[in-house]
Amino acid sequence: MSNPKNSSHNFSSTCSYCGVGCGVIVSKEKNNTLNLKGDTHHPTNKGMLCSKGLNLHYTVNDRSDRLLYPQMRYNKNMPLQKVSWDDALNRTAAVFKTFIQKYGPNSVAFYVSGQCLTEEYYVVNKLMKGFIGSNNIDTNSRLCMSSAVVGYKMSLGEDSVPICYDDIELADCFYVTGANPAWCHPILWRRVEAHKALNPDTKIIIVDPRVTDTCSIADLHLQLNPGTDVTLNHAIGRLLIENGDIDIDFITNHSEGFEAYKQMVFSKTLEESALICGLAIADIQLAAQYIGEAKGFISMWTMGLNQSSIGVNKNLSLINLNLITGKIGKPGSGPFSLTGQPNAMGGREVGGLANMLAAHRDLQNPIHRKEVQDFWGGTQIDPKPGLTATEMFDALDNGSLKAIWIICTNPLLSLPNVRQAEQALKKAKYVVVQEISNKSECLAYADVILPAAGWAEKEGTMTNSERRISYLPKIVDAPGEALPDAEIIYKFAQKMGFSGFDYKNQEEIFIEHTRLTANTNIDISGLTYDILKKEKTVQWPYIKKKNKGTERLFTDKSFYTPSKKAIINTVPDVNKSEAPNEDFPFILTTGRIRDQWHTRSKTSKVNKLNQHIKQSFLEIHPDDAFKLQIKEDDVTIIQSKFGEVRVKAKITKSIKQGVVFLPMHYGKILGNDLNRTNNVTSTLVDAISKEPDFKYCAVQVSKYKKP
Ligand code: SF4
Repeated sequence: MSNPKNSSHNFSSTCSYCGVGCGVIVSKEKNNTLNLKGDTHHPTNKGMLCSKGLNLHYTVNDRSDRLLYPQMRYNKNMPLQKVSWDDALNRTAAVFKTFIQKYGPNSVAFYVSGQCLTEEYYVVNKLMKGFIGSNNIDTNSRLCMSSAVVGYKMSLGEDSVPICYDDIELADCFYVTGANPAWCHPILWRRVEAHKALNPDTKIIIVDPRVTDTCSIADLHLQLNPGTDVTLNHAIGRLLIENGDIDIDFITNHSEGFEAYKQMVFSKTLEESALICGLAIADIQLAAQYIGEAKGFISMWTMGLNQSSIGVNKNLSLINLNLITGKIGKPGSGPFSLTGQPNAMGGREVGGLANMLAAHRDLQNPIHRKEVQDFWGGTQIDPKPGLTATEMFDALDNGSLKAIWIICTNPLLSLPNVRQAEQALKKAKYVVVQEISNKSECLAYADVILPAAGWAEKEGTMTNSERRISYLPKIVDAPGEALPDAEIIYKFAQKMGFSGFDYKNQEEIFIEHTRLTANTNIDISGLTYDILKKEKTVQWPYIKKKNKGTERLFTDKSFYTPSKKAIINTVPDVNKSEAPNEDFPFILTTGRIRDQWHTRSKTSKVNKLNQHIKQSFLEIHPDDAFKLQIKEDDVTIIQSKFGEVRVKAKITKSIKQGVVFLPMHYGKILGNDLNRTNNVTSTLVDAISKEPDFKYCAVQVSKYKKP
């Protein structure tokens, strides 16, 4: 903790790990090192921080892994050498111009991150969509929340999280599915735990094939078979209808699609659904009873639903439960997707996916395209969606994409079937890697390396899971010649000869972004850094006249669809994942562990965090381990048709028989590429959201025997 005698300055900022968005007070010591504590006045965390947040400042204080200056090579056979910013950006602009001239604007792409600040997201989208003339700009948020984006849009008319964190203390039933918030959104979950402790009648239903720490306060754990979420949600929907626990007024006057939905959910008997899900009928009935009796009902989910070949359908089937019960737009009720990354929501605001435009505008809508185009004054915006995350690497592989610019993410650890991604990057004609850490596997394939400033080394804004925008100050100088990501992009845009990128600071970008939201459903026009600094945070939409944000959406039961009614979607109940078979009889599911973050470029620097779980592992049920003669800590080989992973076994009854689990975080950083989980994950993606199927992959497991 901070020693007040040594502290010279305190700064309010926001934790840059998960989408909970906890407030922190950072103190800069006289020797320029940072210290921090939870912000007791912040509405999100009220002073609390989890293990990762408590140790965030160490990731800035330890600069041993930082990239310090631009590097470049003039051809693939040459080593990288130190160059000036001008040289790096001039050459990259020349290469991009050549490719664009020769092969068209879709021959280049940007792949960015949910950890980018909103200003960074905005400026790179403006450059690509508005000036280069391609929508080949996608983000690693594609890998974690694009199914939720589509789910909200198809149900509510726009990608809009209706709820706020203060609804937690007003709810009396939580249906938590495909999420382990006790580990992955810890401070949010502390609020649920505290609420349950004070109100023991509050019902907590957890849906997960694994017993996780989140289950410790569960009234009911539905340990379903992987991939059967739609079946379960439909069965609960059917029971709610049968029990009369639906809101007829809401269904009749504020929604569409109920009759077709009803037919769908009645197409399976409860017995059939229970069998498919591997659950007891009585447990499904109890879940429906808890939801039906609730006055405030929150459905809460994250990657377990989103990362699936039927991720959109899983989202829709869940949101339907809130709609048929009319539990939306009211205090203590609503569907609530938890965003994984700190600024996945901010990225969505600026249209940071290959198929979106700024301020939730539609790429396919000519009026929306014209609005954005006129505002930017650049080239004509292409109506065709750009390449998504996995499609970019396919396009590099087949040669149609020539150049990729990777910002603040490590696809060679996080993409599915990662060995193919590695081959694709090897084939790329030109690779730019904009990074803070020298540990990213991507650096080995870079033609240009651009050193970026990290958290606390640049200013900007982020938006958390409840639409809460916060300002993050620059507290210390970035090391060496590293620059803020937005500055790198707008300097590059200038080198390309584009006008409209002569920003003097980040706030000018922010103000431009807020102006583009005017008269949309996420309107934050009029919001400034000064207001954010004064108010600490503001939830969009921002009501300028009252100088206040908006806690919850749809309180007037008017939705963003053309009819103003919510859509109860009829969702087919078909799992499209590749079923286990004789060669690959187990279902692999992947996920996070408590003290690591994504590809560990930051958390692996913190000794305390590495102590929690020291290395990757395979979770396997004792009966499966017995059959395979695997003992605790034996090295196991996990094989799929895509590749192989070798890690030690952790035998536990926490996982269902026939299912195995690998943490997602491990790779070459403090390891080797044989413990990289995504060597084996499936190439399947959801047909609409294009989100990969990380939660279901057919694998074989065996004990490793030394040759
Ligand atoms: Fe940071 Fe998330 Fe932990 Fe809060 S819960 S301290 S935002 S990692």
